[in-house]
Amino acid sequence: MVSEKELYAHLKQEFGFTRFKAGQKQVIQRLLAGGSTVAILPTGTGKSLCYQFVGTYTNQTVLIISPLLSLMQDQVEQLRLKGEKRVVALNSNLSYAAKKQILANLHQYLFIYLAPEMLNNPVVLAALTDIDLGLLVVDEAHCISAWGPDFRPDYLQLGKLRQKLGFPVTLALTATATKRVTSDMMRSLKLGRKVKVIRNSVDRPNIFLAVEKSADTQEKNQRLIQLIRSLPAPGLIYFSSKKQCDQICALLNAKSKLTVASYHAGLPAGDRYAVQQQFLGGQIDLICATSAFGMGINKPDIRYVIHYHLPENLESYLQEIGRAGRDGQQSLALILYSEQDRGLQQHLALSALPTNAELEILQNSPQLLEKSSQENQSAQLVWRYMQMGVSFPQMSAVFSQRRTEKLQALQQILAYVNTQGCRRKFI
Ligand code: ADP
Ligand code: MG
Repeated sequence: MVSEKELYAHLKQEFGFTRFKAGQKQVIQRLLAGGSTVAILPTGTGKSLCYQFVGTYTNQTVLIISPLLSLMQDQVEQLRLKGEKRVVALNSNLSYAAKKQILANLHQYLFIYLAPEMLNNPVVLAALTDIDLGLLVVDEAHCISAWGPDFRPDYLQLGKLRQKLGFPVTLALTATATKRVTSDMMRSLKLGRKVKVIRNSVDRPNIFLAVEKSADTQEKNQRLIQLIRSLPAPGLIYFSSKKQCDQICALLNAKSKLTVASYHAGLPAGDRYAVQQQFLGGQIDLICATSAFGMGINKPDIRYVIHYHLPENLESYLQEIGRAGRDGQQSLALILYSEQDRGLQQHLALSALPTNAELEILQNSPQLLEKSSQENQSAQLVWRYMQMGVSFPQMSAVFSQRRTEKLQALQQILAYVNTQGCRRKFI
């Protein structure tokens, strides 16, 4: 086992830090001892340092699966800034020539970042199986679970990848801690029974949990204006609909002195990036967002997270409000609820998944399927599953199961909203 003294010496020398943050040392020691690990640590804990430490310490290649291009780019920049040149990001932004060049020289990199969609590329897979891998990292590993807030079908292939790579020592990283997501993660990644779960408490005592009910939309909007005029910024408001996200954003800009911007998947990537950077830099006070906003974002001083609509489930709610008060200062998590929100959330829960009738149409018309998979979320899901070799009857079973689960999750969040008892205890 590596001595404490050596660990601290390496931390100081490679990263310039004198202390480990909560959980880091435990994870690193475990990985250095050759044990696969699931690390559930709040955002901002320095999860990346865990594998960067192991890579630089052992000088063995680390392969990191990362779901977002922007996150990947940030990590690559950080490593380069600290003088590590053996870093590369394999994603769909690369030209064919650049990709070919990188793949031919893959063994010379210490850190290889990989976008999950690249797993569909047999050439990439072949190149990966050729290198001598020290550690496989799955960042934002909750994306593997349909229960998590950021499900990515491509992540479902990671179990197969592990197998192809000969079951290397693996580190699954996430800030989302529920049991259901964790067991999904372990099963999908085929982590086996010897895996160790290292988790830090998700209870965030400095976040005040509240729910306010309004009779209708007009009353809700009035209350929202009142709130953002009086609450300290910066803040974050979540919406389930892009259209309302934009509308309320305009309303709040007009009715307050704050600089408010909206953020959702309907905006061009460049705009989204700019909004995110300006929010981090303090030029924007308030963001109106859909669930597309937030993963990997580490802004310590967010004072409130308001949900204008009902959150999709308790898991995503915890993930979303966890973005408040990272600096430990008093913060607020508030759901603004009115009766009609329930119907909207129920509609969303059901419409994201294709019905049996839709499945049948898509099955009988491959052209239609290919075309609609570019525009429509549920057709895209069918397309992805097909690429993975899932049959239509299997899909139908999966979707119907998931519909039931989604409705149960909705019941749970409604119970949270309506509870008369302590909300913290409920969670
Ligand atoms: P996470 O992925 O858990 O959200 P990151 O890996 O992005 O967190 O790290 C968040 C920040 O914490 C980074 O700026 C990183 O440099 C910093 N950090 C990591 N480890 C330490 C440490 N031991 N001491 C001080 N700062 C650290
Ligand atoms: Mg991270």
